[in-house]
Amino acid sequence: MSSAPKTFPDARGRFGPYGGRYVPETLMAPIEQLERGYAEASADPEFARRLDDLLRNFAGRPTPLQFAERLTAHLGGPRIYLKREDLLHTGAHKINNCLGQGLLAQRMGKSRIIAETGAGQHGVATATVAARLGLDCVVYMGSEDMERQRLNVFRMRLLGARVVGVDSGSRTLKDAINEAMRDWVTNVRTTHYLLGSVLGPHPYPLMVREFHKVIGLEAREQILRAEGRLPNLLVACVGGGSNAIGLFHTFIGDASVGMLGVEAGGSGHHLGEHAARLATAAGYGGARPGVLHGTYTYVLQTPEGQIATTHSVSAGLDYPAVGPEHAWLALEGRAEYTAVEDAAAIDAARTLSQTEGIIPALESAHALAELIRRAPTMKRNQLVILNVSGRGDKDMEILARYL
Ligand SMILES: *Cc1c(COP(=O)(O)O)cnc(C)c1O
Repeated sequence: MSSAPKTFPDARGRFGPYGGRYVPETLMAPIEQLERGYAEASADPEFARRLDDLLRNFAGRPTPLQFAERLTAHLGGPRIYLKREDLLHTGAHKINNCLGQGLLAQRMGKSRIIAETGAGQHGVATATVAARLGLDCVVYMGSEDMERQRLNVFRMRLLGARVVGVDSGSRTLKDAINEAMRDWVTNVRTTHYLLGSVLGPHPYPLMVREFHKVIGLEAREQILRAEGRLPNLLVACVGGGSNAIGLFHTFIGDASVGMLGVEAGGSGHHLGEHAARLATAAGYGGARPGVLHGTYTYVLQTPEGQIATTHSVSAGLDYPAVGPEHAWLALEGRAEYTAVEDAAAIDAARTLSQTEGIIPALESAHALAELIRRAPTMKRNQLVILNVSGRGDKDMEILARYL
């Protein structure tokens, strides 16, 4: 571990060797404009005040840090606290970032927001914010995904967004991303591309992290108030990595605070069966550094360098690349990454439902599943904060099928 952890990327947007900006020439102008717009907004107290007001009065911040009394007793290990991002408007942490970027778009004089979505969760959060701020909204979605997520398509349309089906390629998320990029290049004067996780070219990984770091800032204050000391371990699931880095960021300089990111172990260890990019120590292969969607990071790929297919019971974790800052925290040994298989996540969702009366999103259940595994090896006076990134209502059909 380095003695003075660096938490800001360099001028080229690099976290150690990862990150950066790998985009075609046509995207350079919009991205540089965004970088300037974001730098100006970050220095503007009025921007911070408006964002804080929306986070409080529209999204429902601060979220509670709840002592999980019955879960702690059930596991017989460390004292477990739950950071309740599931209580936010639209049911997950995603609204933090959507509000930040929505306000930024407005400040930059853009009247239109575009986004891409896989399962529809990011699309719904984006459409929600666009409606609140009075911005036009177009969401690109693979036509295969639209079929699978009809309820979210309806939600977005009810909120006034236009949902555009993408019929090319595998008709899923990565095709929707390509379509959104094309739109942005064509309409950059009026349009902001609202990216949903700590992915993509610089400044997105930095900017999205900054909009989510409120999770850790609140949690730090809350645990100090409750226990008078810092936690021993933070646990969060990692799709792109935004909820995890949002919780971790504030604690990176505290060497005594462990950080554990949990990826999707899917149905097996072979390429194509999982979405574990950094959990190499847990035996998941197939990921190595490469470029996907504008950033250099760990990417699941075939030996020939084709982007691999991925699988997870949880759509939010089902993506072949991981945020570059996580790749760097793994390289530095500052955070640890592992993966949990579908079945263990489903079991964990049931455990939290029945011990605490909280039905978690299947994404968040991955983090809990790993904690359930580790609890017996931890001491009873140790403190753990588990990020409950979202609520499980969206996963009822999947849960019903498994249970
Ligand atoms: C989208 C989503 C995730 C995964 O995204 P990250 O960027 O890794 O946080 C995790 N949990 C929930 C509830 C989600 O909706």
